[in-house]
Amino acid sequence: WWLVRRMAEGDDDRRAEGLGLGVNDDLYKPIDKNELLARARNQIRHHRYQERLRSTYQRSISMALTDSLTGLYNRHYLDSHLAAMLERSKGDGRPLAVAIIDIDFFKSVNDTHGHVAGDQVLRELARRLENSIRASDLAARLGGEEFVVVMSDTNMDTARAITARLCRDIEATPFAASLIEDGLAVTVSIGVAVADHRDATPDDLVKRADEALYEAKNNGRNQVIAALG
Ligand code: GH3
Ligand code: MG
Ligand code: MG
Repeated sequence: WWLVRRMAEGDDDRRAEGLGLGVNDDLYKPIDKNELLARARNQIRHHRYQERLRSTYQRSISMALTDSLTGLYNRHYLDSHLAAMLERSKGDGRPLAVAIIDIDFFKSVNDTHGHVAGDQVLRELARRLENSIRASDLAARLGGEEFVVVMSDTNMDTARAITARLCRDIEATPFAASLIEDGLAVTVSIGVAVADHRDATPDDLVKRADEALYEAKNNGRNQVIAALG
């Protein structure tokens, strides 16, 4: 911003005071129109440059943490955040649940309806996951058609109830896809694990959820399997 004040040339104390207040530039009266224009143009150019830097920086940060298709957190973010959540769970003795959600026969959704419809399903599933968790929980896209939900302060009974409802709701409500009037029928398989003494690292916990997911697939899909406690 500009501070217009009558100053005598060489009034250095008042200039310094102005700069201290956040003044970007100054001019002496009488104001020379061309000088004013040139200085204003410089300020605008500088401002735009700063704005550009800021938005590039923010975009690169969010690209590093989130998945561009769904807007959910990505695997990279999950890795670092889950480590912190596991530590906290060990520290305060509250249970921590991890669910891995994988769309059933997703390849055939793409093959039958095309990639665009497939992408729509992935986005809608992401929205549904976000809507079914609390603010303190975390939803991430692991990659492909595989998602993770981390639920803090959640024991196995609660985790099973939440994921079973999610599984039923997904089956019951078709997914919107352009050109498919009645929507697409989608089901998911879910593996759940709750952190315990065996889980020295986040990977151990995710691996147990993944093994339960594998079992859900082998057992006929469209279901939740809990890793044994
Ligand atoms: P399963 O029930 O065993 O999980 O079978 P599936 O077909 O879901 O599993 P598979 O791993 O064979 O296929 C996953 C498919 O997901 C293959 C790939 O084309 C699709 N896919 C992965 N990422 C994307 C994506 O970003 N967009 C779309 N449209 N499809 C994707
Ligand atoms: Mg799948
Ligand atoms: Mg998969």
